[in-house]
Amino acid sequence: MKTNMTFKEYQDKADMTAAYANVGHNFVYPALGLAGEAGEVANKIKKIERDNANVISEERRDAVKEELGDTLWYIARLAAELGFSIEDVAQANIKKLASRMERNKLHGDGDYR
Ligand SMILES: [Mg+2]
Repeated sequence: MKTNMTFKEYQDKADMTAAYANVGHNFVYPALGLAGEAGEVANKIKKIERDNANVISEERRDAVKEELGDTLWYIARLAAELGFSIEDVAQANIKKLASRMERNKLHGDGDYR
């Protein structure tokens, strides 16, 4: 199995498995799916805290990995529905974080700091 994958390769594969209504004209479905999958990540972590005192077994670690993948799929699809590649999103995010770091504004709050 190939070990490296670009964002574009991932997005192309995610696009091939998009099977919801009005694909290409439906940003609502992937936005709701993203919220749902982020909730599944949080729920898996909650159960690790509840049942295992924050000690993560291999099995639970893999379960979180799977939910992170589901989240990534919805990020890719929501980005596509809005006309972005996930590479666009990643580059914009890194640019924002680099700017905050340069200005010593990584901490604090406000979306546009
Ligand atoms: Mg899931």
